[in-house]
Amino acid sequence: MDDKTLALMKQAFKQYYFKAGDKIIPPTRMSEREFGYIPFGGSMIRHLSFKTFGDLYALLVREAPHSVYYSAAYYHEPTLPMHDKGWKGGDLIFDIDADNLKLPCKKDHDLWECKNCGLKRIGLRPEKCPNCGEVSISELNWACEKCLEAAKNEALKLIEILMKDFGINKSEIKTYFSGNMGYHITIESAEFEDLDQTARSEIADYVSGRGLIPESIGVFKRATYEDLLKNLPRVGEPGWRGRLAISFKNWKVKGFDNDNDVIKKIATLYGKIRYSKFKKRLEVEALNMGAVIDTMVTTDVHRIFRMPDTLHGETGLLKKMCDNLLDFDPLNEAVVLSDELVEVFIDYSPKFRLKDQIYRTFKKEKVKLPLMAAVYLAGKGLARVI
Ligand SMILES: [Zn+2]
Ligand SMILES: [Zn+2]
Repeated sequence: MDDKTLALMKQAFKQYYFKAGDKIIPPTRMSEREFGYIPFGGSMIRHLSFKTFGDLYALLVREAPHSVYYSAAYYHEPTLPMHDKGWKGGDLIFDIDADNLKLPCKKDHDLWECKNCGLKRIGLRPEKCPNCGEVSISELNWACEKCLEAAKNEALKLIEILMKDFGINKSEIKTYFSGNMGYHITIESAEFEDLDQTARSEIADYVSGRGLIPESIGVFKRATYEDLLKNLPRVGEPGWRGRLAISFKNWKVKGFDNDNDVIKKIATLYGKIRYSKFKKRLEVEALNMGAVIDTMVTTDVHRIFRMPDTLHGETGLLKKMCDNLLDFDPLNEAVVLSDELVEVFIDYSPKFRLKDQIYRTFKKEKVKLPLMAAVYLAGKGLARVI
């Protein structure tokens, strides 16, 4: 990014932080967490610690960073190198990113650029550049309204599993719009904070519906029709058994055209397709019903995670708590920068909305945009100050 554009972004962030002091909720257990930030035009600075919110806030206003992070973990000495920090526990965190959902709209709004010849195109990144054959190609992922809505759906699925299957109280589940492509979910609870990497990995698999096998629902290789009538899950049962029982209603099996005999229907199906085909079908169903999360984020106990109430350097949007996820509109509620007009040159941008304004597609044009929209594009490298 060029100096003029960097200066605009930093100024916009500074202006926001300067006024936002009373809107930022200080992280819990602040002195036990590691903090880090990426300055505009710089690289990550980590292993920081703040004793008071005043110290942290002073950094936000002074540096107006591109991104601010804090550890999900609590440490004895957050500023020491990783091995000497002394891990005490950590929040249970989940990351939902629209890009991982691989929606069909990606090909309409994602962008790639060949690192060798500079060829730029809209669409999915090719294996190699059609112009020069280079394999090193950078991509720009964009989240449209459909992407954000789909990410929200995954968050809703996840929250339901956490509440129903793990008995986590709604008040312990904090849901945030990530500031860019999805949602972050954080659970701060004495019950989960001690969990090690393995336990967290199991939770990640469980909520994703990964690793579910027929035996998990009482279906064994040699199961007879009678065994199945007895063992197959019923609607209303807890956990994955109950969830799959609901899905069985929609499985189409020849000779069964209504929902009345779901158990008989599935037992008959098993008789026809037997173990390995049934297993495959079950796996697909479980993955569909599970939440698509980035399991690495949940598993990594040393991860630093974007801090709530801070701005995302690629969008200028806020990582914002969602009090009512169902009705949450990220492209309205997370937009906090001003509407003062600035002139920018836009290389390319897909159609988008911020607040109530729709912005059309731009291609190699000089335009005056409200600061919030200029930063939204500049942060992704699509626009620059002229
Ligand atoms: Zn090329
Ligand atoms: Zn999309």
